[in-house]
Amino acid sequence: MEAVADTSEKSQDPIVKKLEAAIGAENVKTSKMERLLYSHDSTGLPKEVDLGFHVVPDYVVRPGSAEDVQMIVIIAAESGVPITPRGAATGYVAAAVPAAGGISIDMVARMSNIIKIDEENMTITCQAGASWKKVYDAAWEKGFLLGSYPSSFPNASVAGWIAMSGVGMGNYKYGSAGDNIRNMVVVVPSGAIINTGFESLADNMAGYNLNRLFVGTEGTLGIICEVTLRLFPKPEVLRPLAYSFESLDKVGGPMKDLTRTRVQPLHVAWSDGNHFKFLSKIGHHVPDVGCLWLVTLEGDKAIVDYEEKIVDEIVAKHGGKKESSEIAQHEWDERCYEYRSSMLGLGTSASETLVPVSAYADMVKGLYALMDEMKMEGAIIGIAVDRNSVMFMPYYLFDKESLAKSMTSLSFAYKAGDVAKKFGGRLMGGFGLFMSSQLKPLRGEGYNIEMAIKNAIDPKEIMNPGKLLGMETRFKLKVGAGLFNVGMGAMSMAKKALPADKMIDKKSKELALEELDREKLEQHKNDPLLNKK
Ligand SMILES: Cc1cc2nc3c(=O)[nH]c(=O)nc-3n(C[C@H](O)[C@H](O)[C@H](O)COP(=O)(O)OP(=O)(O)OC[C@H]3O[C@@H](n4cnc5c(N)ncnc54)[C@H](O)[C@@H]3O)c2cc1C
Repeated sequence: MEAVADTSEKSQDPIVKKLEAAIGAENVKTSKMERLLYSHDSTGLPKEVDLGFHVVPDYVVRPGSAEDVQMIVIIAAESGVPITPRGAATGYVAAAVPAAGGISIDMVARMSNIIKIDEENMTITCQAGASWKKVYDAAWEKGFLLGSYPSSFPNASVAGWIAMSGVGMGNYKYGSAGDNIRNMVVVVPSGAIINTGFESLADNMAGYNLNRLFVGTEGTLGIICEVTLRLFPKPEVLRPLAYSFESLDKVGGPMKDLTRTRVQPLHVAWSDGNHFKFLSKIGHHVPDVGCLWLVTLEGDKAIVDYEEKIVDEIVAKHGGKKESSEIAQHEWDERCYEYRSSMLGLGTSASETLVPVSAYADMVKGLYALMDEMKMEGAIIGIAVDRNSVMFMPYYLFDKESLAKSMTSLSFAYKAGDVAKKFGGRLMGGFGLFMSSQLKPLRGEGYNIEMAIKNAIDPKEIMNPGKLLGMETRFKLKVGAGLFNVGMGAMSMAKKALPADKMIDKKSKELALEELDREKLEQHKNDPLLNKK
């Protein structure tokens, strides 16, 4: 199809002219419709947010190379216009949504190719916007395993997950987003294009670790254009195992025991009984269990057989039951579709908290108590990050049609962080716009170092301003942790005062499958995040 230039009210804007000259008119969008599409991520923001923050970008650009990105950054720096890099926008904290308008850089539209697979040195190089699934599949086809990836992997971009410093599938064995990077090509605010590492070499003893520097920066230090990741040999077997326990807190014991063995599962995860209850409401066949603990092993068959025996023994010691391999395989196949419950038509919202393994059972009880206090209907899923830390991702159903309930429910994520703190943990899931006041109290004195790095690399503050390092409204009002905490406290009080959520009851009658609105069902069938390959 022939590319068409955007003809809108901004066509005389000098910045548009410069951008068009630099990357081609067809790659610069300024129509209101186009810009609105870039004003939210996977948490749909109420339009009132635009009163406080300039979330609708003024310009949307679609670069095709690091050189295009370089030209955009130079134009932005000269004109003092903010830039927000955007991947697939699957995040929840509005990190990819502008807080101060400016240029939204779409890193997916024209920069999502695999560049090369170096079979000799076991690395894969791709453009920033390639989805994790595309990279995983390309590596697998050549006989390699990509160590870890987010459960949003059908869509989430490689650079987006790195920029969020996410944790995900394969984390227990291969580490998280930042652990497998060999090199990145990054455009920094000065306009320079830099390599952060070495294509097929580790980056030890080479000064400050630049690969690491850009991990978790949420687009505030530079634009990642290309990424080289290390690969692992494809395993002989990949074996998911499923064990049931009467309640989720009972998984705390086996989880701790597992960390004391030499068994090195690829992935460890869990889902509680409420999760399965919600799924059954949308017509899924689910196991009738208090909860499932899922341990996925991979490697040479003989080693996997041995490791399975050890996990079986741990589970038997703690009174759990081994479920069939069909259930285990089904749960593994479903690993990237954990929020199917949003098909209930009610809207779901997720929160992420990290606690030490030793606090597993306390954290489970604390999260359920919070759901009760806030009169919410929710479920708990989670994964083991490594031998020390476990991540809980409680999610809840809320009524999108009630503004009061949907807004006040948002404070659950924040309050879940308080529960985690009580047990030596913390809130996680990124800072973005919503949680940007929280980095300072989290880091203490270390925050000043982070600010010094930001000021040194981005002195004009053009890279994703108003994110990660502090919240600032349209009117230049800085919202510190104190003010934010008071706001969240008030919202959670309001939620407790409202009548209890009864979304399951409310929808139960409507949810017999035959009554489901055909059109809605069709929409969901096409949603790559909710459906299997
Ligand atoms: C169903 C579902 C499952 C999820 N599962 C997980 C999970 O298992 N683990 C997990 O950690 N998260 C998970 N998430 C959250 C989210 O998907 C991840 O954070 C994701 O990796 C973000 O990737 P993205 O491409 O969508 O980035 P975006 O949301 O578009 O952007 C995220 C941040 O990265 C920055 N950014 C994007 N591209 C670049 C670039 N090229 N250079 C510099 N900065 C850039 C943006 O400015 C923004 O700050 C899940 C979300 C959903 C909806």
